[in-house]
Amino acid sequence: MTPLHEIITRRIRADGPMPVAEYMALCLGHPEHGYYTTRDPLGRSGDFTTAPEISQMFGEMLGLWLVQAWMDRGSPIPFVLAELGPGRGTLMADALRAAARVTGFTEAADLWLVETSPALRRKQWEALGAYQPHWADDLAGLPDGPLFLIANEFFDALPVRQFVVSDGVLRERVVGIENDALIFGLSPPVSSGDMPEGAEDGAIYETCPQGRAIAVGIGERLAASGGAALAVDYGHAVPRASGDTLQAMKGHAYANPLDFPGEADITAHVDFLALAKAAESGGATNWGVRGQGALLDWLGIRVRAAILAKKQPDRADEIEVALARLTEPDAMGTLFKALALSGDDTPPPGFAEDLGA
Ligand code: SAH
Repeated sequence: MTPLHEIITRRIRADGPMPVAEYMALCLGHPEHGYYTTRDPLGRSGDFTTAPEISQMFGEMLGLWLVQAWMDRGSPIPFVLAELGPGRGTLMADALRAAARVTGFTEAADLWLVETSPALRRKQWEALGAYQPHWADDLAGLPDGPLFLIANEFFDALPVRQFVVSDGVLRERVVGIENDALIFGLSPPVSSGDMPEGAEDGAIYETCPQGRAIAVGIGERLAASGGAALAVDYGHAVPRASGDTLQAMKGHAYANPLDFPGEADITAHVDFLALAKAAESGGATNWGVRGQGALLDWLGIRVRAAILAKKQPDRADEIEVALARLTEPDAMGTLFKALALSGDDTPPPGFAEDLGA
C-alpha cells in the first residue's frame, strides 16, 4: 500500500466513503503524496504526453494566437501574460520564442505561472527563467492589468463530482472500502438541487465545481481589465450526460482510477459548455469552441511544419507524424478543443468564423 493509499483508507474508515471529487483531489494534490506534488509526470519516461511535449509547433501556434489577440486589443503595455498549469513550461517557452518576432510583446509581458506543484515549478524555472516569471497558487494571485491567458490540459486535472439518478433520486458517486480494496459506491440520496435538467435514469453526470469557479474568475478578470483567454483540453461541448469519464494513466497505459492513488494521473473530460457559461456569468464574452486541429490549421501549423521540415530534412518524418497527431480527427484534432473568451466584442484569432470542426 502506498502512503497515500493508507491515508485514504484511514480517512474512509473514520468518516465513511468520500465523494469521487475528494478522492481525485487527494490523489493529484495531496500536499505530501499527491501525484503532481511529487513528480514531473510528462514525457516519454512519465505517464502521459501533452500537445506541447509532442512538438514545438503547438506552443508556437498558441504564441501567435496570443500576439494577435494582444495586437487586436491595441497592444496594451504592460500586460499580464498568464498560464494555468504550465507543466514543464514547454508551451510557454515555445510561445514566447514565436512571439518574439513581433516587436514589443515579450518586453511588455509580465509573466505569471499559476502552478501548485513544487516539482513542476522547478521545471518551469529551468525552461522560463530568462523571462523572469512569477508564480501564483491561483488566479486571485495574479496582479491587475490586461490579461492574456492560456491553459492546456489544466481543466481536465481538476476534481469532478459524479452524480447518478436512479428512480428519480439523486446520489453522488463515492469511493469506499471492501475487503481492504477501494471500490466505487453511491451515497445516500443528496439534495435534488444538484439534479441536472432532464436527467436520465442510470446516467452519470459530472460537474467540476473548481473548474467552474476558475472560469468565473477568468470571466471577471477579462471583463474588468480586458484581454483574452484560450483554454485547450479534451472533452465535450454538447449538453448531455457525459457518463463516467474518469480516467487514470500510468506509464502511457490506462489504469483503474482506484488502483494507484497518488501514483497515476487522473483526469476527466472537460465540459466546455459549463466552463463557457461560467465565464460568461463572470462577464466575459464567450466565443465558443473550435476543434484543436481546425484552430491549429487556421493559425498556420501546416506552413510551420513545411518550414521546419525544410530546415531539418532528417526530421521531416517526425514533424509529419507530430503534425498528424496534433491535428487529425482520429488523433487529437477533434477530441481536443479550444475555448476562447475575451473581455470585449473583438473576436479572438480563429473565432470570428466557424472553422467547420
Ligand atoms: N499544460 C501542461 C501540463 C498539463 S498537466 C502541458 O500541456 O504539458 C496539468 C498541470 O496543471 C500541471 O502543471 C499541474 O501541476 C497543474 N495543476 C493541476 N491542478 C492545479 C491547480 N489546482 N492549480 C494550479 N495548477 C494545477
